[in-house]
Amino acid sequence: MLDRIQKNIALIFDVDVVIEQNLMDLSEHYDPERLQYNANSLLALVNSLHTNQYLRTIGLFRVDIFIPILTFIFGQATFEGTCGIGSLYRLRNEKYGLPRNDELLYERFRKVIIHELGHTFGLIHCQTPSCVMRSATYVEDIDQKKHRFCTHYEENQRHFLNKTNF
Ligand SMILES: [Zn+2]
Ligand SMILES: [Zn+2]
Repeated sequence: MLDRIQKNIALIFDVDVVIEQNLMDLSEHYDPERLQYNANSLLALVNSLHTNQYLRTIGLFRVDIFIPILTFIFGQATFEGTCGIGSLYRLRNEKYGLPRNDELLYERFRKVIIHELGHTFGLIHCQTPSCVMRSATYVEDIDQKKHRFCTHYEENQRHFLNKTNF
């Protein structure tokens, strides 16, 4: 799947994409009360790994991630920053008692990654149902949108003033 993601992201953003595997101890990012991993902390970790050698760095995880104001998130990024994160955890069909579907998992994960990278490039949330920059609360929201940017996101820019988008 990483191979497909690498090729697709390269195509969408017209850049070279390098995949690096890091086996890291994430225990310091774990919240024992929520039984989840702190996404702000993981984003800071990815920021610390980013070097100027790359345009953007996006950390891909398989753990359940949250930010304090939300039960869970699929990913987050620093608006007009250099880094983002995304997690597979809530994208797996098995999580919802449904049969494993690798194609659907790939589609969901690439949408999350494209969405978060969009934030790093200054794109804000979009109301167009099919637009990849539409915000997603549930996995069904991800399934309803496409992996592409629409042309209308600029119209909604004034609604999004947060420094960090998710
Ligand atoms: Zn849009
Ligand atoms: Zn977002």
